[in-house]
Amino acid sequence: MPRWSIHQKYARLLVNKLKLRIDHGMIRSIDTLIDAPHEWAKNLGIGVLERLKENDKCKDIRIIINLAKLNMLPTDWYTQRISEYRIGTSAHWLELLRRTARCIYSDDASLLVDLHVALDMLSKIFSSNMEEFKK
Ligand SMILES: [Zn+2]
Repeated sequence: MPRWSIHQKYARLLVNKLKLRIDHGMIRSIDTLIDAPHEWAKNLGIGVLERLKENDKCKDIRIIINLAKLNMLPTDWYTQRISEYRIGTSAHWLELLRRTARCIYSDDASLLVDLHVALDMLSKIFSSNMEEFKK
């Protein structure tokens, strides 16, 4: 996967281009959510679980947070396991990741999820040439 500096560069470009109301802290939170879910869950504010409990569309996201706290979510949430047999599974995890971002941050945050996953996939394709993305 690309370094976070590359993820952050393209996230800032997306935020500016689409005039999204997303600050640098949220960009970093989304990167942490995807690449280090255990660390992300440990650093969530105390009120997050309570807020989710009150939102019918987001109640089940508390299960995701608890799985992350128990270190049961892998880096990249299986979104990179694209293969002929696993594409359905990857798509399911990607949608769950998007919903988590929407419930905890905002609708726009799910765009950052898509960008992060797309850059990870590009880095798989171009493996050693990710230096090009820094320019
Ligand atoms: Zn990643």
